[in-house]
Amino acid sequence: MVGAILTQATNWQNVERAIDRLRREGALRPRRLAVMPTARLARLIRPAGYFRQKTKRLRAFSRWYVRRYGASPRRMFRTPLGALRSELLGLHGIGPETADSMLLYAGGQPIFVVDAYTTRVLTRHRLIPPRATYAEIQAMVMDTLPARAPLYNEFHALLVAVGKRCCHRRNPDCADCPLDDLPHTRRDIAT
Ligand code: SF4
Repeated sequence: MVGAILTQATNWQNVERAIDRLRREGALRPRRLAVMPTARLARLIRPAGYFRQKTKRLRAFSRWYVRRYGASPRRMFRTPLGALRSELLGLHGIGPETADSMLLYAGGQPIFVVDAYTTRVLTRHRLIPPRATYAEIQAMVMDTLPARAPLYNEFHALLVAVGKRCCHRRNPDCADCPLDDLPHTRRDIAT
């Protein structure tokens, strides 16, 4: 869940460096994270970028997690999915992608995470309209695939792999892509 916040607007390698630093300080323990002095926390997560914003977000999340669920993932993920998602979205700095990443990857809940790679691949393959919203893309995938967390996890991982390897924002490498046989456009995508 810490990783879901730290990965906002940065790549996972930077997040891993920040998580390593947190782990070495024992700051992945929620109760410790919740009371860690701001300046120290900001210093530890600096490699993840936007560290001042992310310090506030981590602090808000960890305090809520301790207060509301006693820092117990079992208790947290026993909450019905829709209700828990609404709670997460009400926290400082947690949007749909971050909330859904926590629910799917930490909680094993059957909810699909939409990111820039997903949007790019599905748009170029005309499976979603241009400028579709997060909610529209998520609904399309979840209406199409069975509601199973491992399936959503795998599907998202495959979209990310294709996005990183071939489906670049500009000049997608369709000739080298496993999806080249499916109908698509090569036009540039802003996300
Ligand atoms: S075939 Fe082209 S447009 Fe489709 S996912 Fe691959 S790189 Fe992107």
